[in-house]
Amino acid sequence: MLITADTLVTGEEVLHPGWVAVNDGTVTGLGQGAPPRPTGDGDLVLGEATVVPGFVDMHVHGGGGGAFPVATDEETATAVAMHAAHGTTTIMASLVSAHPDELLREVDVLSGHVRDGLIGGIHLEGPWLAPSKKGAHDPTALRQPGHPDPGEITRVLEAARGTVRMVTVAPELDGAMDAIRQVVDTGAVAAVGHTDASYEQTLAAIDAGARVGTHLFNAMRPVHHREPGPVTALVEDPRVTVEMIGDGVHLHPSLYRGVCELVGPDRVTLVTDAMAAAGMPDGSYRLGTLDVDVVDSVARVAGTDTIAGSTATMDQLFRFAVDHGPADPDAALLQAVRQTSVNPARAVGFPTAGLHAGGRADLVVLDAGLQVQLVIRGGEQVLAR
Ligand SMILES: [Zn+2]
Repeated sequence: MLITADTLVTGEEVLHPGWVAVNDGTVTGLGQGAPPRPTGDGDLVLGEATVVPGFVDMHVHGGGGGAFPVATDEETATAVAMHAAHGTTTIMASLVSAHPDELLREVDVLSGHVRDGLIGGIHLEGPWLAPSKKGAHDPTALRQPGHPDPGEITRVLEAARGTVRMVTVAPELDGAMDAIRQVVDTGAVAAVGHTDASYEQTLAAIDAGARVGTHLFNAMRPVHHREPGPVTALVEDPRVTVEMIGDGVHLHPSLYRGVCELVGPDRVTLVTDAMAAAGMPDGSYRLGTLDVDVVDSVARVAGTDTIAGSTATMDQLFRFAVDHGPADPDAALLQAVRQTSVNPARAVGFPTAGLHAGGRADLVVLDAGLQVQLVIRGGEQVLAR
């Protein structure tokens, strides 16, 4: 199948016009200008449209009413399908802090879905987080990696059999440095987040192998001019990729623009941190064991001001990146593609990073307003308009 469009963004460059050849779910070629053969039946001649690589969301708790911590396969499939309809072709299922037996059960259920290809990997967001920066995590489920059960993290990672791709840890906790080294030793990514760590403690975590900052600024000690804290340490180190929730609620856009300018286009990944209410109307939902109220699309822990994940989808974050990106339209598109696809895939070690010959045919067709028109995953249309 050939796909042609006025604009094609590969992850490396912007082509006007561009074409992609897809065979058996794989990209077999792409280029600028006229395609290698005339288009015909079964090809997609898109005209005024922008084709970008499928979005990779490395931090998602649910969507479409479904939540990943819940055991039913239907809920998991519902959440994945809702995000896929908004262009997310690779999704990481994030688990909020849970008690030990529950955590093992959730990891067991989700690891099956990694093996069957429904989700790309598991992200353990906790339970090894700072109580003072718990955000929307159940405080009774939080614990230290080194106390009272220093063997728990090993058991969880073993139960996951390679399907846990990322673990968020607060560096100041007892046993945190050993935990980070254990995570890295299993081939997963250690992330710093939900933390009250000092600048020095965060540097130590990075030296121990941490390579991601979990939703930079949110649930993190803020920057102080004499105690720069985790934000500064994560931004400063060129080995670290920082997540940002670009939904217009979690962060002021000026911080997004400022961080992009500081670290360049390749070290920021946009994440939704979406919960079950994403793609759903306002109302009452659950995040782990906590009740969450969604009013005007903003999710908060019931009865508090604490933001409880987002209701965003990746296409919304893509438009946010373009709106707040470089003034040159092509540069803005390229930055948005890197931050919604290439950078997250690279940060967590997924094989597909951008559109390239030999890669899985995951792509999103956007209209002139950058709204999703069509989504293709592994060569199959998951959303057709
Ligand atoms: Zn989260």
